[in-house]
Amino acid sequence: MLQGKKIIVTGTASGIGAATAALLSQQGAEVIGVDIQRPAQFKGQFVQADLSRQDSIDALVAALPQGLNGLANIAGLPPTRPAPAVLRVNLVGLKYLSTQLLPKLADGAAIVNLASLAGLGWADAKDTILAADGLGFDEVDAFCQQHGIEGARSYFFSKEALIAWTLQNRWTWRARGIRMNAVSPGPVDTPILQDFIETLGARAEEDMRTMDRPGTPADIAPVVAFLLSDASGWIRGTNIPTDGGMYANVLCQMNGL
Ligand code: NAD
Repeated sequence: MLQGKKIIVTGTASGIGAATAALLSQQGAEVIGVDIQRPAQFKGQFVQADLSRQDSIDALVAALPQGLNGLANIAGLPPTRPAPAVLRVNLVGLKYLSTQLLPKLADGAAIVNLASLAGLGWADAKDTILAADGLGFDEVDAFCQQHGIEGARSYFFSKEALIAWTLQNRWTWRARGIRMNAVSPGPVDTPILQDFIETLGARAEEDMRTMDRPGTPADIAPVVAFLLSDASGWIRGTNIPTDGGMYANVLCQMNGL
């Protein structure tokens, strides 16, 4: 399905990124992994980079080859980490890497952003999202203070803004056939699941009771692979909840179904 495609996957040292890199390789892609930590075992090329820093992303982009067919933006920090750090990795660094990489993407390439169910309320944060447009790495601390983004709110905001950015870019690179989509998992059993449970407390317990089970990285990786493949060629600016029915449950409750 991905035979001959050269694809960058960030966050490959753990969880969803590691599972996605493995699946893409199985499907015939040549994967170049990126993470701040070196993965214990990794098939393919790996470039170490800190996606919270502009200089590190610049060095990464310079090290990558031309003619890339895909970018899976999976690296992310959980809500228990300091708010500015979460915003730098999950939003500012992700956007910077994606736009800096455009000249090295082949026509027809696909970009997939790992968002979250935590971002589905993006419309309520529209003004802050618009204020974050073009936010630079050095401006993040002041932005968080100015907009009251502290604690776990940073994670929610990073994912809200990421979904909005994905929608906004539905046609930005259409002339080159470059597509951007997002995947929004519900709770997935990876090292950061505990961070979400800690952050959300009783609400997480209630959410988990409605689920048959938490997701696994293997539930998410095939959706990312599909969005990177030519089979999804007419899917643009979409966000796909991948969550065992959790978002449908929220919608039914909200709308009395
Ligand atoms: P994880 O902690 O297992 O993996 C995240 C990876 O990102 C790690 O390998 C980490 O080293 C890397 N990373 C963190 N900061 C980095 C930086 N500055 N530079 C480069 N790499 C960095 O977590 P996961 O659950 O696999 O999460 C992957 C993505 O899925 C994240 O964006 C997360 O927000 C999203 N997500 C996870 C869940 C869940 O329940 N696990 C739910 C919804 C969305």
